[in-house]
Amino acid sequence: MAKEPSGPVWVSRFPTSQSTTSLVDGFRQKCEAFLAALNTAGATVKINATLRPPERAYLMHWSFVLNKGDVEPDDIPPHPGVDIEWVHRKANGSADLPASRSAAAAMVHGYDIAFAPSLTSLHIFGKAIDMTIGWSGALTIKQKNGASKTIGSQPRSGLNHDLWAVGATYGVLKLPSDPPHWSSTGH
Ligand SMILES: [Zn+2]
Repeated sequence: MAKEPSGPVWVSRFPTSQSTTSLVDGFRQKCEAFLAALNTAGATVKINATLRPPERAYLMHWSFVLNKGDVEPDDIPPHPGVDIEWVHRKANGSADLPASRSAAAAMVHGYDIAFAPSLTSLHIFGKAIDMTIGWSGALTIKQKNGASKTIGSQPRSGLNHDLWAVGATYGVLKLPSDPPHWSSTGH
């Protein structure tokens, strides 16, 4: 079967889940308990990503690396279930490197990639969640043990260190270097 050329058409395939129901058993319950506490406290939460299928992780990773110029298109390994052709060709059949790179660039743009995408991200295992959190005033939120904690510090977002401590009581750990990202291990 002929492979389909790389390009933005791939971006809508193998979509990332935005629901906690796709998280793995164990982390799902921890996450839902933390989200319930945030909701009760009056915080706004927008979930951007939970489970990322391995096919999508493959496409994101290699389009990013190819666009950066760190790999030749014909050196990209295949992935089961993803019949993508990274090598674009000129009319005469010779490899067209600029066309390959520009198709990869269009994918990177379509995915809206900010950081080099990992092939071993905890999203692939349903053990990570990306979310945007906000509140106004002080946030009084229940910790896992039932005790409330009032957060008056700044910023009023998921980057607040006092909120990280509350998340940790639920087993939802912040990765400091990746603003929206929380996970089962902090990675
Ligand atoms: Zn993430």
